[in-house]
Amino acid sequence: MHDVIIVGGGISGMTAAFLLQKSGRDVLVLEEKSEPGGHIRTLSEKGVRMETGPHSFMGSSEFTWKLVEDLEMGESVMPASPSSKNRYIFRNESLTPLPMGLSSFIRTPLLSWPAKLRLMMEPFIPNGAQEDDTAWDFFCRRFGREAANFIMSPFVSGVYAGDVKMLGARAAFPKFWNFEKDSGSMIWGAVKYMRNKKRRLKREGIEPKKGLFSFNGGLGNITQILAERLRSGILLEKSVTGVHKVENGYKVESGGESWKARAVVLATPPSTTASLLEGSLNGMTDDLKKIPMSPVALIHWRAREDNHTFPDGFGFLMPRLFEYRVLGTLFPSRLFPNRVSDGWQLFASFYGGMTDPGAVDLSDDALIELLLDEHRRIFHTTLDGVEILRILRYPAAIPQLLPDHPERIMQFREILKKKMPGIDLAGNYLTGVGIEHAIESGYAAYDRIHEFLAN
Ligand SMILES: Cc1cc2nc3c(=O)[nH]c(=O)nc-3n(C[C@H](O)[C@H](O)[C@H](O)COP(=O)(O)OP(=O)(O)OC[C@H]3O[C@@H](n4cnc5c(N)ncnc54)[C@H](O)[C@@H]3O)c2cc1C
Repeated sequence: MHDVIIVGGGISGMTAAFLLQKSGRDVLVLEEKSEPGGHIRTLSEKGVRMETGPHSFMGSSEFTWKLVEDLEMGESVMPASPSSKNRYIFRNESLTPLPMGLSSFIRTPLLSWPAKLRLMMEPFIPNGAQEDDTAWDFFCRRFGREAANFIMSPFVSGVYAGDVKMLGARAAFPKFWNFEKDSGSMIWGAVKYMRNKKRRLKREGIEPKKGLFSFNGGLGNITQILAERLRSGILLEKSVTGVHKVENGYKVESGGESWKARAVVLATPPSTTASLLEGSLNGMTDDLKKIPMSPVALIHWRAREDNHTFPDGFGFLMPRLFEYRVLGTLFPSRLFPNRVSDGWQLFASFYGGMTDPGAVDLSDDALIELLLDEHRRIFHTTLDGVEILRILRYPAAIPQLLPDHPERIMQFREILKKKMPGIDLAGNYLTGVGIEHAIESGYAAYDRIHEFLAN
């Protein structure tokens, strides 16, 4: 019998497994795919490094840095080029830089004058925080409709591939929602938060890091190193089909095989977690099953730089008000120099999401035609000699955190505690959808399982 079985070899499961193994526990990770890493992997082909999901992490991600330190991989960290702070939003048939300071905000054509004035009124708008606010209610109340349409909604597409009118503000943007609830203003709340964080980091002797980061070989380096540290403790191509209570622990089944452990961490997407427990908790897994997942198609492509002029920066986002179907396009080779050979620029375009799920089902030819037609018009260039490198499709890419999400998760954890003690959860659907949240969920699962096994 193992101490712990972790189901799912994505970053959240492998983080929990690594920490438990480091603390001397006998850990087994079961992963259904032939490669570990879940959504965080880097593919190398024709001298191009392509990310299967996220392309970078933020300097403010405390748990990511903690994991980087615990894995002793600080030397392979790569900061993004300074131009990564340039971000663009499509309006007036062109890519408009997102203003980063007061003077560029005053000059930007991204918003009309009434919209700019409305946005600047934010600190004076009464506190209206409601637990069931959607992200749309929240952003419109704080910043006005035009800013919500042209700045916040594209940001929601970029993070969640979501529908701003469906996501819960408290669930999907808890920090922002709490700024309003506690300080009466998102702007003042953010200023107060930044000030306190700066003081705390100084007290703890931590140097604050700004900007975006990855690793020399791509973001996939971190899941690759995690898998290397776990070595024989990870079994690939084991699709787990059920988890059942047995004497002193649990039995985990995959095909005709089974393994036993005193504790189990399910680091799988919510619908899989629900189906693995359905046999033991019949009828009680609905809260997990009901979490919607946005579908995403990610297309990697490259263009010769001498033929075209492309903007320098992180990438652009497309407001959901136009006929264009692209959610946004990243410029990975502008961020990190060693992603593509000299003379080329690499792009990663996202289609689909909750507002256009059908895009993910388009044939390869139709997707390519759409991509080329749209990007010709967006970049105002012919795109001759473009090469499509990879089309990745994820029917269930990113969890959508609805207004009652925090309560659903809390209730489900209570059920587990009562009916299946020793079963725990990790993953990016619990408190947030980013890398930082996934890693944090791995650390939290480690803490709870460590305590459970000690008793
Ligand atoms: C296209 C895309 C872009 C993204 N961009 C960003 C970004 O820019 N910034 C950011 O912070 N985050 C981004 N994310 C989110 C980020 O990738 C996730 O938060 C993180 O990778 C989630 O890790 P996880 O371990 O929780 O889940 P996953 O990575 O989904 O891992 C779950 C693992 O469980 C395995 N599994 C599933 N079922 C079973 C089973 N029955 N048996 C065994 N194994 C099973 C899966 O194969 C998988 O390996 C993006 C995600 C996607 C899809």
